[in-house]
Amino acid sequence: MSGTLLVTGASRGIGAAVARLGAARGYAVCVNYNASADIAEQLVQDIRAAGGQALAVQADVAREDAVERLFETVDAELPPLTGLVNNAGLSGLVNRIEDAPAETIRHVMDLNVLGSIWCARAAVRRMARRHGGDGGAIVNISSGAATLGSPGEYVWYAASKGAIDSLTVGLARENAGDGIRVNAVAPGFVNTEIHAASGMPDRLEKIAPTMPIGRAAEPEEIAEAVLWLLSDAASYTTGAVLRVAGGR
Ligand code: NAP
Repeated sequence: MSGTLLVTGASRGIGAAVARLGAARGYAVCVNYNASADIAEQLVQDIRAAGGQALAVQADVAREDAVERLFETVDAELPPLTGLVNNAGLSGLVNRIEDAPAETIRHVMDLNVLGSIWCARAAVRRMARRHGGDGGAIVNISSGAATLGSPGEYVWYAASKGAIDSLTVGLARENAGDGIRVNAVAPGFVNTEIHAASGMPDRLEKIAPTMPIGRAAEPEEIAEAVLWLLSDAASYTTGAVLRVAGGR
């Protein structure tokens, strides 16, 4: 693969695994992060040590102005953009809807939904043939929650991922004639820090045995699906939501 792959929220978890595999497959990688500069820089050093090209760029992708600056940095510092992975996301603390603070719900929507929209818009402006680009691919990270609804945990998060699925279909159809494929990966249950951040540090131990496949995924198993969707091997696949959820 050539060109630049921008991965939002790539300092750890699924985003970091996508960045690492993307670099191994030949992309120059923009490792976006918001707060975790140290681990983002370490990931970039690891990629460079392995012979790859990478750059860590701080940006809160929930903010439209920060997203504009992020893409302008990519334009200035890296080869032309050919791929975007909208990965940055969070759930907020588990709660029933009647007890959930407005601030939590707003933050989740701002990051998961609007953040993905700001980034997709900036990517289309660069990659679409009608704007002089050479085409490319976008992968949105959805969740099994989009269809399960996450009752008693975080229904607002599930709703944000439902919006991601709709965004995926719409963007795919709007941009198919301009050389951009748009797909989503919907992970089920992945071994990352998102569960502890949602106030459920023991979620992995509790839920893993209830998964049809009997365990949580490792982030690398999600990254494989993402890299396939980005690649020319998926040349006829657009508008798809690929569930990578161990049967759930
Ligand atoms: P994670 O381990 O908590 O990592 C989240 C990443 O997003 C971090 O790199 C974090 O970096 C970054 N981030 C947070 N806020 C940001 C912001 N405002 N701007 C830019 N980056 C930001 O989460 P994960 O489990 O890998 O989740 C990644 C994606 O997969 C999310 O969209 C999530 O909804 C989805 N997903 C996860 C699971 C699962 O079981 N883990 C299942 C289904 C879907 P900083 O610390 O620098 O902010």
